[in-house]
Amino acid sequence: MSENDAQLDNDAKLDRLITARAAERRAMIEHQLIPRGIRDPRVRTAIQHVPREHFFPADRIDNAYVDAAHAIDCDQTISQPYIVALMSSLLELHGGERVLEIGTGSGYQTAILAHLARDVFTVERHAVLASAAAHRLKTLNLTNIHYHTGDGTLGWTEHAPYDAILVTAGAPRVPDELLDQLADPGTLVIPVGDESAQTLTRITQHNARFETQTSIGCRFVKLRGHAGWQD
Ligand code: SAH
Repeated sequence: MSENDAQLDNDAKLDRLITARAAERRAMIEHQLIPRGIRDPRVRTAIQHVPREHFFPADRIDNAYVDAAHAIDCDQTISQPYIVALMSSLLELHGGERVLEIGTGSGYQTAILAHLARDVFTVERHAVLASAAAHRLKTLNLTNIHYHTGDGTLGWTEHAPYDAILVTAGAPRVPDELLDQLADPGTLVIPVGDESAQTLTRITQHNARFETQTSIGCRFVKLRGHAGWQD
């Protein structure tokens, strides 16, 4: 097969992957997201474009469009579609931003961010999850994502500052390191609370002043590490 034929073959596979369950995604947006107030049209379009089943372990893809979070490897979870949509909306992205994501996990939220922003810098502490996610995201031709394995509570100083930062694990407090790496203006979204319940929290920086707003209650796996949970 020539290089050109291989590319055409890959494009055809990708097309099939994106169209296969498009109707289920439309239904998910209509029944799970719109009634709960997800209005941002760019967020809805991104969710329509990303085949969620691609991020599920092979034996569990039937769960992909269910209104819930689901288990992935390393005792972690892929977030509920509504939570992904809400967190993405709270960042109010327009397309030109550089975004830092802490907790790559399956890579599903990363894919949504890659559709909404110019560049996504994603950090995951489990190397196994990070490499599986990178592989999946490359198959989807998402080339504006940069990967790092390590403790995301320290951020990723090399590429700071970031217009938006999204933490997808539950934190005991807001890490100062992440506030330090936020651009001005900039927005940080992070679930904060104890290990059984957190509040989705948005911190916006304007003219060197931080403002904090709270959104819904939620339950994420623990953000572990230097400025997270220690155990
Ligand atoms: N957005 C992901 C959610 C994954 S669950 C998805 O939809 O699939 C949260 C992830 O945060 C887990 O993969 C966990 O390993 C990771 N995590 C926890 N603490 C971390 C830290 N300090 N740095 C980077 N990743 C962390």
